[in-house]
Amino acid sequence: TDIENIMIFKKQIIKKIGLVELVKVTEKPEHIGGLKTLKEWLDRKQKIYKNLELAQKASVDIPKGVLLVGMPGCGKSLTAKACASIFSLPLLRLDMGAVFGPYLGQSEENIRRVIKLTESIAPCILWIDEIEKGFAGVRGEGSSSEVTTRIFGTILTWMQEKTSPVFVVATSNDISLFPPEFLRKGRFDEIFFVDYPDAEVLRDIINIHFRKRGWNIKLDEEKLLTLCSKLAKRNFSGADAEALVVETIESIFLEKLQNGLDANDIKETVNGDEIIKTLEKKSSEIKPIGEAKKEYIEKIREIFNKYAFKNAN
Ligand code: ATP
Repeated sequence: TDIENIMIFKKQIIKKIGLVELVKVTEKPEHIGGLKTLKEWLDRKQKIYKNLELAQKASVDIPKGVLLVGMPGCGKSLTAKACASIFSLPLLRLDMGAVFGPYLGQSEENIRRVIKLTESIAPCILWIDEIEKGFAGVRGEGSSSEVTTRIFGTILTWMQEKTSPVFVVATSNDISLFPPEFLRKGRFDEIFFVDYPDAEVLRDIINIHFRKRGWNIKLDEEKLLTLCSKLAKRNFSGADAEALVVETIESIFLEKLQNGLDANDIKETVNGDEIIKTLEKKSSEIKPIGEAKKEYIEKIREIFNKYAFKNAN
């Protein structure tokens, strides 16, 4: 069909330019535990993108994009990827590091090409991953920092003036290098702060990852919540919770093998209490990065509060 041909053609252009990649995604909003406010917000924006002509006729502003900042491993990249299915649009990932080239003027040229490319593909999502990587040296001296400043100036101006339907999702877990003008309203429609999950969200995340692996056993929700309260106090991230599920499945499988039991239909025969017990045991072996950094985390939370970012949860 015409649409398929257009996609093939667009893929060829993306490949040729090389600074962005077309990401194939399977992530859906139901794979994200928590982040309720953020998901609801994205749902409002996707409705505008799905009714662009009507929206333009009614002079509704076309959403520019969102900045997701916060703790590592808590679902920023996951949400960025899920945007492809939420909006039903192609997702382009920009590698900030690849923008910087060794030749004079090359980096600025690269960013202009990226902007032109995304506008030619539009409507689409542009995911700027680890945007802070490009800020290293923005405030420093020397020519390389001038290049960085100019590049971000170009992105900022584009963000502000853009009328084309390119929805930008920028993610970062370190805003200490951000120039303040980047955090001002008007560039992004909203800045969301993604914090560590609370006990209930951790419970959802654990259930999501068991289900994702075909382990559909109904776990005792109260017992699981009690465990998750302990994990939340230790600053378990979503990624830590996923690791806990992976370790638990492996451990139960190996134990069956060792005891000469039938591991053939393990998913059907394992019982919920055994899973909870193994989760408890394995959780003491996982050392989440957030656990050792409690003071630092408090500091980050203060900064996020100061800027009045919206809590994604
Ligand atoms: P970083 O800043 O370190 O890149 P991030 O916030 O982008 O972290 P993700 O890459 O989204 O973190 O998370 C890593 C993995 O952990 C995800 O692919 C997912 O499997 C799991 N995960 C993290 N948060 C959640 C969540 N809220 N719901 C379900 N799974 C999650």
